[in-house]
Amino acid sequence: MSEYFSQRLAELKPYTAGEQPKDGRYIKLNTNENPYFPSRYAVGKIDGARLDGLRLYSDPDCEQLTTAIARYYNVKPSNVLPSNGSDEALAFCFAAFGDCGVVFPDVTYGFYKVFARLFGVSYDEIPLDSDFSVRVDDYIGVGKIVVLANPNAQTGMYLPLKEIERIVAGNPDNVVIIDEAYIDFGGESAARLTEKYGNLIVVQTFSKSRSLAGARVGYAIACDALIADLQRVKFSFNPYNVNSLSCALASAAMDDKAYFEQCAAKIIATRADLTKGLLALGYTVIPSSANFVLAKSPEIGGAELYALLKKAGILVRHFDDARIADYIRITVGTDEQTAALLKAVGELEEKYA
Ligand code: PMP
Repeated sequence: MSEYFSQRLAELKPYTAGEQPKDGRYIKLNTNENPYFPSRYAVGKIDGARLDGLRLYSDPDCEQLTTAIARYYNVKPSNVLPSNGSDEALAFCFAAFGDCGVVFPDVTYGFYKVFARLFGVSYDEIPLDSDFSVRVDDYIGVGKIVVLANPNAQTGMYLPLKEIERIVAGNPDNVVIIDEAYIDFGGESAARLTEKYGNLIVVQTFSKSRSLAGARVGYAIACDALIADLQRVKFSFNPYNVNSLSCALASAAMDDKAYFEQCAAKIIATRADLTKGLLALGYTVIPSSANFVLAKSPEIGGAELYALLKKAGILVRHFDDARIADYIRITVGTDEQTAALLKAVGELEEKYA
């Protein structure tokens, strides 16, 4: 840290992003990306005219993308704010509504804590139950912003929409942010509840179920007033926050519903095979509604298993957080990648038995 760095941010611990190896040497199951090609219909939208358009700034209102998202969820364009990855939408939320502080589970997406520190928002972590489920009663009337990933990050566990609604209704004086990065792999979105509740913000991404992590597109859905608040923050930070190529790709990907559904169904089926395979090897597997599973070896510690798999050419994710340190998080890849992972894990377990 240089002598010029902000004193206020001296304690800031940046988010540790998953490894992105440059050489393609690994079977990459560490950052919950989609193993399938992006929509070819969407990729086809990047033509010469679109490239020529790079001379100009992108549309600050992201009209085409906003309209495509609104059409998909049957809400008004004024209920949608596209962002540069859903991380940016989440950052806008912390900046806009953070005065009263924020709560989130003790095991969840690591960025919530980083945003809280960056934006000077006080935070409390609410422990998940011993089986990693969210205890809904802990989130009623908390007097702070509530941020919940559903399905939850790192565990993959899903909270039914009725329970989400109970939390939203139970905090009428505070904003409730539901981060649905993984919702398309087996959950029901809370997006339609934004019509009924003026305190609900649903955040989603194109990074997982629509194979566009590198395009960096996400969005928030909420009532007109909350979206106007987020717009205020966006136009005070980066008016051209979504680049024009990503806007074109994402809006067409939203329209290509059939391909999206096909890829999501494939990942859900592979997740079942991966879970079955791990259980057969004696693993503890947390029931996942996401495109990853959190699993614990009967013999090998989490950090060690991560290192052994890396040596075997397979990248998974390991977190040091005490409650999940014995586990590894495995992204659901193709059937071939899953078979290779199960084979490697099986060989390691045999060695360690
Ligand atoms: N929320 C959750 C729960 C995530 O796991 C991630 C991805 N790591 C994000 C948000 C951010 O995704 P992106 O910025 O790529 O949309």
